[in-house]
Amino acid sequence: MTVVGAAIAVVGVLSSCSSKEASTAPPSFAKPPASASPEGTRCVAPPHPPGEDPGPLRDSPTGSGRASSGVADGRLPDGVEPFDDRYPALTRLDPALLGALREAARAAGRDDVTIHVNSGWRSSAYQRRLLDEADSTYGGGDDAARWVAGVGTSPHVSGDAVDVGDAGATTWLSEHGAAYGLCQVYANEPWHYELRPHASSRGCPAMYLDPTHDPRMQQ
Ligand SMILES: [Zn+2]
Repeated sequence: MTVVGAAIAVVGVLSSCSSKEASTAPPSFAKPPASASPEGTRCVAPPHPPGEDPGPLRDSPTGSGRASSGVADGRLPDGVEPFDDRYPALTRLDPALLGALREAARAAGRDDVTIHVNSGWRSSAYQRRLLDEADSTYGGGDDAARWVAGVGTSPHVSGDAVDVGDAGATTWLSEHGAAYGLCQVYANEPWHYELRPHASSRGCPAMYLDPTHDPRMQQ
């Protein structure tokens, strides 16, 4: 059992996730408005107090009466760890990604670091909501696209991405994530991780500056 862990720890040193590219993000995107945190997730401005029961989640932090996107659409309350099987945001992830995340979370826990999941799988309807909110905040176009992918291209909709927090977790993953195949993909999103199975042996691929540079988003 521990042999695997030891091997993983060794290859983890080879991680290249901590690319210097992260420090080259345009200053204007360093602090997105709290009203529209990147990708619409709660990485920046949690609308619910930590530990609050998910209950009947409202569709927005202000509880507007628009069509709701709830737990079934992939919303998560604060403080959810990768081991929680109650949420479609987790259970509808690619099983390999979820397995890697759980393994990493156990290892992080041994370092007294807790990995929370702020967003995982999202329904198309939820992703569209996030896109609409970003469009109204950024006026659409490239500015919105830097933060929220389209419904047809978002790796969250296909269950292939997770947004993690808090800062301690993202720091831990930037150092150790590659050993588990977990890689930061966008320099402007230190919380967004996807599975790159070869990362454990080769390190993570170079990051894109932001999603608009990702060929997958050009479809
Ligand atoms: Zn993300």
